[in-house]
Amino acid sequence: MIVDPDLPHPKRRIYCNRTLNLRSIGAIGFDMDYTLIHYRTEVWEAHAYEHAKRRLLERGWPVAHLEFDPTFASLGLILDLDLGNVVKANRFGYIKKACHGTEELSFEACRRAYARELVDLAEPRWRFMNTLFALSEACLFAQCVDLLDQRKLEELGFLSYRDVYGGVRSAIDEAHMMGHLKSEIMAEPDRFVELDPELPLALLDLRHSGKKLAIITNSEWFYTRAMMSYAFDRFLPEGQTWRGLFDLVIAAARKPVFFTMDSPVFRVVDEERGLLEPVVGGLALGEAYVGGHATLVEEAFGLGGEEILYVGDHIFADVNQSKKTHRWRTALVVRELEQDLDALESFKPEQAELSRLMAEKERLEHCFSQVRLALQRKRASYGPQVEDSEEALEAQIRDYRAQLVELDGRIAPLAERSSRLSHPRWGLLMRTGNDKSHLARQVEKSADVYMARVSNFLMQTPFVYLRSPRGSLPHDHGPEGGA
Ligand SMILES: [Mg+2]
Repeated sequence: MIVDPDLPHPKRRIYCNRTLNLRSIGAIGFDMDYTLIHYRTEVWEAHAYEHAKRRLLERGWPVAHLEFDPTFASLGLILDLDLGNVVKANRFGYIKKACHGTEELSFEACRRAYARELVDLAEPRWRFMNTLFALSEACLFAQCVDLLDQRKLEELGFLSYRDVYGGVRSAIDEAHMMGHLKSEIMAEPDRFVELDPELPLALLDLRHSGKKLAIITNSEWFYTRAMMSYAFDRFLPEGQTWRGLFDLVIAAARKPVFFTMDSPVFRVVDEERGLLEPVVGGLALGEAYVGGHATLVEEAFGLGGEEILYVGDHIFADVNQSKKTHRWRTALVVRELEQDLDALESFKPEQAELSRLMAEKERLEHCFSQVRLALQRKRASYGPQVEDSEEALEAQIRDYRAQLVELDGRIAPLAERSSRLSHPRWGLLMRTGNDKSHLARQVEKSADVYMARVSNFLMQTPFVYLRSPRGSLPHDHGPEGGA
């Protein structure tokens, strides 16, 4: 019996925002870094941080004592350059948690600071953290905000949090650091790369089901070749290499420009030595290229936008742009989702208790409000009157109030634990309180489907029909407070 009727484990599923029938997809393009190749974030980020810190030291910043704190930030947070804060917002842009510098703001302080402010990512005040370097950048920015508050950056001419951000940002200098980091990774891939032995089989399944596969990566040819060979060849059947999996390999693709503008394309004539020749006309299947643009991929495969699925980890450069300009179907890889799902699983019994207590609170509050209204009508002699005396109603109000206080005492620690699931400071990646997080909203807007790792295609098979769940609305759950 090879049929397992159980759906894959939640961590191995592909989640769906917009219905996607994988059978109607003719070609799948993959980003490489953090999509086909997963890096150990803490090692990568620690390197990025040290690199930026060295550059700040060279410029005279008093940062020698600072150290990278990998637990400080998480993806999807937003930097507030006006106030020097790192914030977490819900899907509407309301800010629910904040740090000033490295100090967490209390609930009240956060409310005071943002009573009239909504995050609008189109404004230059806000910086959404969705890049590879987000964690190290947020940590260094927050630490430097502390330095500015301690008046340790004034001599250098930094007077505002925005100035500080500019300084930190220029020290990060991604292009320079990437070059440096990538040569280290190629020299010692075991240190940096987290292998996924299931991924090559998942791609073989997709390929043998008739789909064309492509790599479209911003990494340069030599790096792509070295990393793909390192991470794939060992897990493929004897005699096969990663090159046989892909109909097209496009390195140095310059996403997001790859999706919006025509750029010249070169064929890799000698893959060993990286010799290039300019391409006139279209791309030929089976070859590797440098540069180019999305229309060439559509022409080479003879497919329209809706028949191509693009899989990447960058909300803007990968999924947002490929969807917006070419109407490709999109899949986002969010590895951190695994942590969220683990945390939710272990919190299940407490969540059930929390939901029960919240339903009880709603019921008690309703009773409390009704008695208050009855007392108000009795005192002002209008509307329907109850038989109870004012004193009796006052006694009932006191009783309900006491019950509510007692209930709140039981709810508070559970709610506090729930708000710190997955990440001790910021909580679940995809949620802000009970609502969706700003990150979840970005994912929803750009990605048709999302998953923790590309090898989840293995569990779902190349023939899966992914249906978006019926969207929930506040009135779905009816008067009982939900299931
Ligand atoms: Mg990537």
